[in-house]
Amino acid sequence: MGTGHLTIDLAALADNWRALDAASGADVETGAVVKANGYGLGAGPVARTLARAGARRFFIAVAEEGPALREVLGGGPDIYVFGGHMAGDAELIRELGLIPLLNSIDQLTRHIEALPGHPFGIQLDTGMNRLGLEPEEWQAVRDIVLSAGPALLMSHLASSDDPDAAQNAAQLATFRAMTDGTGLPRSLAATGGTLLGPDYHFELTRPGIGLYGGAPFTEGKPVVSLSLPVIQTRLVRAGEGVGYSATWTADEDTLVATVAAGYADGMDRALSNTGMLWAGDVPCPILGRVSMDLIGCDVSALDPVPEALEALGPAQGIDALAAATGTIGYEVLTTFGRRYARRFTGHA
Ligand SMILES: *Cc1c(COP(=O)(O)O)cnc(C)c1O
Repeated sequence: MGTGHLTIDLAALADNWRALDAASGADVETGAVVKANGYGLGAGPVARTLARAGARRFFIAVAEEGPALREVLGGGPDIYVFGGHMAGDAELIRELGLIPLLNSIDQLTRHIEALPGHPFGIQLDTGMNRLGLEPEEWQAVRDIVLSAGPALLMSHLASSDDPDAAQNAAQLATFRAMTDGTGLPRSLAATGGTLLGPDYHFELTRPGIGLYGGAPFTEGKPVVSLSLPVIQTRLVRAGEGVGYSATWTADEDTLVATVAAGYADGMDRALSNTGMLWAGDVPCPILGRVSMDLIGCDVSALDPVPEALEALGPAQGIDALAAATGTIGYEVLTTFGRRYARRFTGHA
């Protein structure tokens, strides 16, 4: 096998949803965010698994993600669109029964003119300054909007991965001021907000990254593993260099494996001379520069050298690999998910 394989453990995914559902509390519904093709892992298998686990409300970024999702979910579950109702979306929204989370007065007007009576939700900006109606805009249209009976009022927390951030309580207070007394279903918490406790849960939580085994849900199970085949192994003599520009030189004779993945496969070039691959619990430091399709690493500690080394596995999860290049688990998932053949295990 010449290329790496991403293995996705659907049983772990379902367990993570159940754990976040338990953390959301008994009277709170738990949705599932499956935007960007299920965080890169495949919206179809991911959504099917989560629906079987009990999720009934799904969230995507844009209406174009709707058809693939509606096909696997069938007619029952709700599909909300964070990007709202964009020009040209009306047909998809109507045919697939999507629920746009309207972000602006323009979107409100567009939706009500194009699809009168079609369900919608409202996204409010409580301080992230990314999407949603500002408090003053909401004030101006609130009564008209409420009389149309929105399906959901929601907002998004900017700093919920940090429980000590003052912005969390500030956004909560703003959200309450904008929505208390409406009697409508509300949602504020993604994964981080779900872990901040019941004040943040309202009627519906909507975790994403925690389902897929990422921080801040540190108790979650790893969902993804990635093993990279070893193409060749050689003994590099003391004084010899490895890779482009020989940026690593052997102090002593070193057994070096060349594996089949590189920066074209999402293995960031910043891993050069700093990252690790793993053989079970044995670390194999990356030696020299990451090439487009190849990486050298130190396998002196291994006998025999296995057929593949792990870039993601029990010893190194998505957040650990992300930390080695200064990014976050979200980016590792969405980058790798696009590039590798996916293999699903633990069918729910
Ligand atoms: C992506 C996203 C989520 C899910 O966030 P996680 O941190 O992955 O749990 C929830 N709500 C909105 C508006 C989002 O954009």
